[in-house]
Amino acid sequence: MTAVTRVMDLLQEGTSCLVAAGVDSPRFDAACLLALALPVEHNQIPLMLHDPVSADQRDRFQQYLQRRCQREPLQYITGKVDFFGRLFACDRRAMVPRPETELLVEAVTTYCQHHCPHAAIADIGTGAGVIAISLATMLPAAPIYATDISDEALKLTAENARLHSAPNRIELLCGPYLDPLAKMGVLAEVEVIVTNPPYVATNLFDDLQPEVRDFEPRPALDGGHQGLDFYAHFLPQCRQLPRLRLLATEIGIGQAGAVTRLVSEHLNPTEIEVCPDLAGISRVVLAYLDQTHT
Ligand code: SAM
Ligand code: GLN
Repeated sequence: MTAVTRVMDLLQEGTSCLVAAGVDSPRFDAACLLALALPVEHNQIPLMLHDPVSADQRDRFQQYLQRRCQREPLQYITGKVDFFGRLFACDRRAMVPRPETELLVEAVTTYCQHHCPHAAIADIGTGAGVIAISLATMLPAAPIYATDISDEALKLTAENARLHSAPNRIELLCGPYLDPLAKMGVLAEVEVIVTNPPYVATNLFDDLQPEVRDFEPRPALDGGHQGLDFYAHFLPQCRQLPRLRLLATEIGIGQAGAVTRLVSEHLNPTEIEVCPDLAGISRVVLAYLDQTHT
């Protein structure tokens, strides 16, 4: 007689496979994949350790496990990512949103709530749309534009906008830098620009963890030589925004000096602030272009 397979057996087997594959959080990921295969909520797993699993459930789990062992990001397998307290759809059409990007959303929300709740905001390089959609839910009076060079990413943004009942609040536009805003004739309207541009230096790309290097869209991450190529086109274009009052941009490790210098040269802001993330790394640059934030 073959022994019954239980939830705890698969959890153990999955954790061991993921340890061997070099995954960072093996037990957590194994539990998430198991929850997906059963399917139940992730927090139910500890309550089900002695429950038997069917052959179908086991097969599904093993398929998910195999993908994760090849270092596909967990969020692409589950199809979901948590960002700023909300769940978003997530797949290979866009980069997996990172927790540190929440800082960018928080900074823009706080500024706009205090100084300009009606100001039009443009999120340049929106990817899955988490920045634009989070801002739309927290700033209900703000018109929001979300742009990307990737048509595929914008389809995912549209799905997420529908998921969060924000489709009427966000205008999705395809094209590089501020070109789509110029085409729409709204450059004179936009007061706040927020962006998490590709900022990984090309020569560091091969050293990234496999989840990022082998699975995420390269144009979302590769910022060229020194990771700062985006700014060469982007900052001169920002000068065409007569009402720009805040530029909020996410930066990579060690880029604070170069980015504040570039922003100062091109935009002549009244003040620049650099905010650290939870790990103490300078992560967000805020450039204010008038006195209204004081
Ligand atoms: N905003 C999303 C986030 O924070 O999770 C995605 C950020 S990802 C680092 C950068 C995004 O910018 C990608 O979706 C990429 O397709 C897009 N992108 C790259 N170059 C661009 C450009 N020149 N103009 C507009 N979007 C660009
Ligand atoms: N933080 C991302 C990473 O290093 C990079 C994001 C970006 O290029 N904007 O994986």
